[in-house]
Amino acid sequence: MGTRFRLFVQPPFEDPTSSPEIITVSSPRGSVGPGPSDDRMYVVEPADKMRPYGVNHGPLGTPFISLPPWTRAILDPAIPDEEGNFDHYQPSTPGFEAAHAFGCVRFTLDVWERYIGQPLVWHFHDHHDRLEISILPDWDNAQYGYGFLELGSQFTKDGRALPFSLDFDIIAHEVGHAFVYSVLGIPKPGAEFPEYLGFQEAFSDCVSLIAAMHFPSVIENVLTVTRGNLYIA
Ligand SMILES: [Zn+2]
Repeated sequence: MGTRFRLFVQPPFEDPTSSPEIITVSSPRGSVGPGPSDDRMYVVEPADKMRPYGVNHGPLGTPFISLPPWTRAILDPAIPDEEGNFDHYQPSTPGFEAAHAFGCVRFTLDVWERYIGQPLVWHFHDHHDRLEISILPDWDNAQYGYGFLELGSQFTKDGRALPFSLDFDIIAHEVGHAFVYSVLGIPKPGAEFPEYLGFQEAFSDCVSLIAAMHFPSVIENVLTVTRGNLYIA
Protein backbone atom coordinates (compact mmCIF):
# COMPACT_ATOMS: atom_id res chain seq x y z
CA MET A 1 0.00 0.00 0.00
CA GLY A 2 1.41 3.40 -1.02
CA THR A 3 1.48 6.73 0.77
CA ARG A 4 -0.99 9.54 0.12
CA PHE A 5 -0.06 13.17 -0.57
CA ARG A 6 -2.10 16.17 -1.67
CA LEU A 7 -0.53 17.47 -4.90
CA PHE A 8 -1.29 20.42 -7.17
CA VAL A 9 -1.09 19.46 -10.84
CA GLN A 10 -0.97 23.18 -11.59
CA PRO A 11 0.11 25.56 -8.84
CA PRO A 12 -2.65 27.71 -7.37
CA PHE A 13 -0.99 30.90 -8.61
CA GLU A 14 -1.06 29.66 -12.24
CA ASP A 15 -4.65 28.52 -12.03
CA PRO A 16 -6.67 29.99 -9.14
CA THR A 17 -9.35 27.34 -9.65
CA SER A 18 -6.93 24.44 -9.15
CA SER A 19 -7.11 22.44 -5.97
CA PRO A 20 -4.70 19.73 -4.89
CA GLU A 21 -5.52 16.13 -5.71
CA ILE A 22 -4.97 13.20 -3.40
CA ILE A 23 -2.31 11.06 -5.06
CA THR A 24 -0.85 7.78 -3.85
CA VAL A 25 2.88 7.36 -4.47
CA SER A 26 4.77 4.10 -4.30
CA SER A 27 6.44 4.65 -0.91
CA PRO A 28 5.11 1.86 1.31
CA ARG A 29 2.69 3.16 3.92
CA GLY A 30 4.69 3.85 7.09
CA SER A 31 8.04 4.19 5.28
CA VAL A 32 7.94 8.00 5.11
CA GLY A 33 8.86 9.74 8.33
CA PRO A 34 8.94 13.34 9.55
CA GLY A 35 10.25 15.86 7.05
CA PRO A 36 8.91 14.11 5.02
CA SER A 37 11.89 11.77 4.82
CA ASP A 38 12.71 8.23 3.82
CA ASP A 39 15.84 6.23 3.07
CA ARG A 40 16.44 8.11 -0.22
CA MET A 41 15.58 11.73 0.47
CA TYR A 42 14.38 14.22 3.04
CA VAL A 43 12.84 17.68 3.06
CA VAL A 44 14.11 20.55 5.21
CA GLU A 45 12.84 24.10 5.54
CA PRO A 46 15.91 25.95 6.85
CA ALA A 47 15.01 28.75 9.24
CA ASP A 48 17.85 31.09 8.30
CA LYS A 49 19.51 29.88 5.08
CA MET A 50 20.50 32.95 3.10
CA ARG A 51 22.15 31.38 0.07
CA PRO A 52 21.57 28.39 -2.17
CA TYR A 53 24.00 25.48 -2.24
CA GLY A 54 26.85 25.52 -4.74
CA VAL A 55 29.56 28.10 -5.26
CA ASN A 56 29.06 31.28 -3.24
CA HIS A 57 31.36 34.19 -2.43
CA GLY A 58 32.51 35.43 0.96
CA PRO A 59 32.59 39.12 1.99
CA LEU A 60 35.97 39.61 0.26
CA GLY A 61 34.88 37.82 -2.87
CA THR A 62 36.57 34.53 -2.01
CA PRO A 63 34.65 31.67 -3.62
CA PHE A 64 33.57 28.77 -1.45
CA ILE A 65 31.32 25.82 -2.00
CA SER A 66 28.46 24.89 0.30
CA LEU A 67 26.83 21.49 0.21
CA PRO A 68 24.28 19.57 2.27
CA PRO A 69 23.45 18.45 4.84
CA TRP A 70 21.85 21.50 6.39
CA THR A 71 22.73 21.25 10.08
CA ARG A 72 21.30 24.48 11.48
CA ALA A 73 17.81 25.45 12.54
CA ILE A 74 14.83 24.23 10.53
CA LEU A 75 11.10 24.84 10.67
CA ASP A 76 8.92 22.09 12.10
CA PRO A 77 8.92 19.08 9.76
CA ALA A 78 5.76 17.69 8.20
CA ILE A 79 4.60 14.67 10.19
CA PRO A 80 2.70 11.65 8.84
CA ASP A 81 -0.76 10.93 10.23
CA GLU A 82 -1.40 7.80 12.24
CA GLU A 83 -1.72 5.73 9.03
CA GLY A 84 1.54 7.08 7.57
CA ASN A 85 -0.01 9.45 5.01
CA PHE A 86 0.56 13.17 4.41
CA ASP A 87 -2.71 14.15 2.77
CA HIS A 88 -3.95 15.72 6.00
CA TYR A 89 -1.81 18.77 5.18
CA GLN A 90 -3.90 21.52 3.60
CA PRO A 91 -2.60 24.36 1.38
CA SER A 92 -1.37 27.48 3.19
CA THR A 93 -0.71 25.59 6.42
CA PRO A 94 2.78 24.95 7.88
CA GLY A 95 4.18 21.68 6.55
CA PHE A 96 2.11 21.65 3.36
CA GLU A 97 4.92 22.91 1.11
CA ALA A 98 7.35 20.34 2.52
CA ALA A 99 4.87 17.49 2.05
CA HIS A 100 3.99 18.76 -1.43
CA ALA A 101 7.64 18.95 -2.53
CA PHE A 102 8.36 15.43 -1.30
CA GLY A 103 5.23 14.04 -2.94
CA CYS A 104 6.10 15.67 -6.29
CA VAL A 105 9.66 14.30 -6.25
CA ARG A 106 8.43 10.80 -5.35
CA PHE A 107 5.68 10.92 -7.99
CA THR A 108 8.22 11.88 -10.70
CA LEU A 109 10.62 9.17 -9.55
CA ASP A 110 7.76 6.63 -9.68
CA VAL A 111 6.98 7.53 -13.31
CA TRP A 112 10.55 7.66 -14.63
CA GLU A 113 11.96 4.75 -12.63
CA ARG A 114 9.38 2.66 -14.48
CA TYR A 115 10.69 3.98 -17.81
CA ILE A 116 14.36 3.34 -17.01
CA GLY A 117 13.46 -0.02 -15.49
CA GLN A 118 15.25 0.42 -12.18
CA PRO A 119 15.45 2.70 -9.17
CA LEU A 120 17.35 5.91 -9.77
CA VAL A 121 20.85 5.88 -8.30
CA TRP A 122 21.74 9.41 -7.20
CA HIS A 123 24.78 10.62 -9.10
CA PHE A 124 26.20 11.86 -5.79
CA HIS A 125 25.85 8.51 -4.00
CA ASP A 126 29.60 8.31 -3.33
CA HIS A 127 29.28 11.19 -0.87
CA HIS A 128 25.65 11.48 0.15
CA ASP A 129 23.18 8.68 0.90
CA ARG A 130 20.11 10.84 0.46
CA LEU A 131 18.87 13.79 -1.53
CA GLU A 132 18.22 16.91 0.52
CA ILE A 133 15.16 18.79 -0.74
CA SER A 134 15.36 22.25 0.75
CA ILE A 135 12.90 25.10 0.57
CA LEU A 136 14.46 28.54 0.29
CA PRO A 137 11.55 30.99 -0.10
CA ASP A 138 13.66 34.14 -0.60
CA TRP A 139 15.72 32.74 -3.48
CA ASP A 140 14.48 33.38 -7.03
CA ASN A 141 15.44 30.07 -8.63
CA ALA A 142 15.40 26.30 -8.30
CA GLN A 143 18.24 23.85 -8.82
CA TYR A 144 19.36 20.26 -8.63
CA GLY A 145 22.96 19.59 -7.70
CA TYR A 146 25.35 17.43 -5.76
CA GLY A 147 23.13 16.08 -3.00
CA PHE A 148 20.45 18.72 -3.14
CA LEU A 149 17.28 19.90 -4.82
CA GLU A 150 16.51 23.46 -3.82
CA LEU A 151 13.27 25.29 -4.35
CA GLY A 152 13.02 29.06 -4.22
CA SER A 153 10.20 31.31 -5.41
CA GLN A 154 9.15 33.37 -8.36
CA PHE A 155 8.52 37.00 -7.43
CA THR A 156 5.76 39.07 -8.94
CA LYS A 157 6.22 42.78 -9.76
CA ASP A 158 4.38 43.68 -6.57
CA GLY A 159 6.77 41.52 -4.54
CA ARG A 160 4.60 38.48 -3.89
CA ALA A 161 6.50 35.19 -3.64
CA LEU A 162 5.08 32.27 -5.64
CA PRO A 163 6.81 29.26 -4.12
CA PHE A 164 8.28 26.66 -6.47
CA SER A 165 7.57 24.07 -3.77
CA LEU A 166 3.94 24.23 -5.00
CA ASP A 167 4.88 23.93 -8.67
CA PHE A 168 4.91 20.34 -9.90
CA ASP A 169 6.35 21.34 -13.30
CA ILE A 170 9.41 22.96 -11.71
CA ILE A 171 10.02 20.17 -9.20
CA ALA A 172 9.67 17.44 -11.82
CA HIS A 173 12.02 19.38 -14.12
CA GLU A 174 14.69 19.37 -11.39
CA VAL A 175 14.19 15.63 -10.93
CA GLY A 176 14.76 15.39 -14.69
CA HIS A 177 18.30 16.66 -14.17
CA ALA A 178 18.78 13.87 -11.61
CA PHE A 179 17.87 11.30 -14.27
CA VAL A 180 20.27 12.78 -16.83
CA TYR A 181 23.17 12.79 -14.39
CA SER A 182 22.33 9.31 -13.12
CA VAL A 183 21.90 7.66 -16.52
CA LEU A 184 24.52 9.54 -18.56
CA GLY A 185 26.98 10.53 -15.84
CA ILE A 186 28.61 13.88 -15.24
CA PRO A 187 30.32 15.58 -18.20
CA LYS A 188 34.07 15.89 -18.03
CA PRO A 189 35.43 19.33 -17.05
CA GLY A 190 35.28 21.62 -20.07
CA ALA A 191 32.72 19.44 -21.83
CA GLU A 192 29.65 21.37 -20.72
CA PHE A 193 29.10 22.85 -24.18
CA PRO A 194 25.94 24.89 -24.85
CA GLU A 195 24.48 21.91 -26.71
CA TYR A 196 24.89 19.74 -23.61
CA LEU A 197 23.31 22.37 -21.36
CA GLY A 198 20.46 22.76 -23.84
CA PHE A 199 19.96 19.01 -23.85
CA GLN A 200 19.88 18.96 -20.03
CA GLU A 201 17.15 21.60 -19.95
CA ALA A 202 15.12 20.15 -22.81
CA PHE A 203 15.22 16.61 -21.48
CA SER A 204 14.30 17.79 -17.99
CA ASP A 205 11.28 19.57 -19.48
CA CYS A 206 10.31 16.29 -21.16
CA VAL A 207 10.62 14.46 -17.83
CA SER A 208 8.31 17.02 -16.28
CA LEU A 209 5.78 17.03 -19.13
CA ILE A 210 5.58 13.25 -19.33
CA ALA A 211 5.40 12.88 -15.55
CA ALA A 212 2.46 15.33 -15.48
CA MET A 213 0.70 13.15 -18.03
CA HIS A 214 0.45 10.47 -15.32
CA PHE A 215 -1.96 12.45 -13.17
CA PRO A 216 -5.39 10.92 -13.77
CA SER A 217 -6.94 14.40 -14.03
CA VAL A 218 -4.45 15.48 -16.72
CA ILE A 219 -5.14 12.37 -18.79
CA GLU A 220 -8.86 12.98 -18.45
CA ASN A 221 -8.52 16.66 -19.42
CA VAL A 222 -6.36 15.94 -22.46
CA LEU A 223 -8.72 13.25 -23.69
CA THR A 224 -11.73 15.51 -23.13
CA VAL A 225 -10.21 18.52 -24.88
CA THR A 226 -8.87 16.49 -27.82
CA ARG A 227 -11.73 13.96 -27.87
CA GLY A 228 -9.00 11.35 -28.05
CA ASN A 229 -7.31 12.84 -31.10
CA LEU A 230 -3.89 13.61 -29.63
CA TYR A 231 -2.61 15.09 -32.88
CA ILE A 232 -4.49 18.29 -32.07
CA ALA A 233 -3.26 18.42 -28.47
ZN1 LIG B 1 16.91 22.97 -15.50
